[in-house]
Amino acid sequence: MVAAVFWRHGAALPVWVLLAINGFAWPHFARLLAQRSADPARTERSNVLVDAFMCGVWLVLMRFDLLPSVAMLAMEAATCVAAGGTALMLRGLGVQVLSGALVVATGGFVWAPQTTMPEILATLPFLISYPLILSGITYGLTQRVRRQNRALARISSIDGLSELLNRGHWEESVERVLAAGNGSGGVATLLMIDIDHFKQINDRYGHTVGDEVIGRIGAIIRRNMREGDIAGRYGGDEFGVVLNGVDAATAALIAERIRVGINAAGFDHAADLRCTLSIGIAQSGEGARDVRTWVRQADAALYNAKLRGRNQLASNADAWQHDADAA
Ligand code: GH3
Ligand code: MG
Repeated sequence: MVAAVFWRHGAALPVWVLLAINGFAWPHFARLLAQRSADPARTERSNVLVDAFMCGVWLVLMRFDLLPSVAMLAMEAATCVAAGGTALMLRGLGVQVLSGALVVATGGFVWAPQTTMPEILATLPFLISYPLILSGITYGLTQRVRRQNRALARISSIDGLSELLNRGHWEESVERVLAAGNGSGGVATLLMIDIDHFKQINDRYGHTVGDEVIGRIGAIIRRNMREGDIAGRYGGDEFGVVLNGVDAATAALIAERIRVGINAAGFDHAADLRCTLSIGIAQSGEGARDVRTWVRQADAALYNAKLRGRNQLASNADAWQHDADAA
């Protein structure tokens, strides 16, 4: 584009040499500088200002030939904004004025803005390809930010030890299931799972082994889940699992698998440790309108499982039966 204008003006050899260096050597050198830099973003911002400097030089030497000048100014401004926002754009403009003034001071000022057809044709590829490339890069960056945001959201919603949802996110997700279920009348069952005598495990084997137990239970719960189920660490040694589309009877089978799974688990640093679980089961229904009441129902069942000697299941239906029998 610049060469087309110089061709018409019959520019001097040094100008051609400078153009060739700027066009074909400088970009590679700039890239190398950025790659070797300890702070590549900062180096790139300096590189962009060098571009702005040369842009000022070419504008004056092209005698302000309208279309190439405007195209160059616009693309340089876009590059500055992409690399450093409006602040860098203003700095770029300042540098352009400065370099333009330097060239005017040494070589004089010629004003010839008319653009010829060959120059228009030479400008078109730049005009079309440059914005496309710049927006392609921007799109790539947006995608990367989106991926990283998703990863961050995932990390912040997951409990580090059990790798299940943390309490807040678990409650939110369960609330959504309840809201959806109330609409469609779908069934779901909640398991509240608590480690038996976990305090003793910590006291006897140390907290590291205790943490390992929590991790193992998380893994066993995950292995027994299906798509749509929601498992979270509800408290220190208590876990909540919502089994979606499952009634209490089927949920008891899954709960039993989890209970037996942890019974059978061995631990590297505590060979004689056998860990047991008590599990309270509550099917969703009239009583469970929100998470807290549903959890309270499953917790009542869990309490009964503990009372009856731990290492067993209890459902809120038979908890009530039990209470009725006692009465
Ligand atoms: P029960 O059979 O009645 O449930 O007895 P328990 O000892 O399990 O019940 P309790 O609620 O008294 O003890 C829970 C213990 O869990 C107390 C606490 O030190 C331990 N704990 C809570 N969070 C963690 C954790 O992140 N890591 C470890 N290692 N221990 C934890
Ligand atoms: Mg416990």
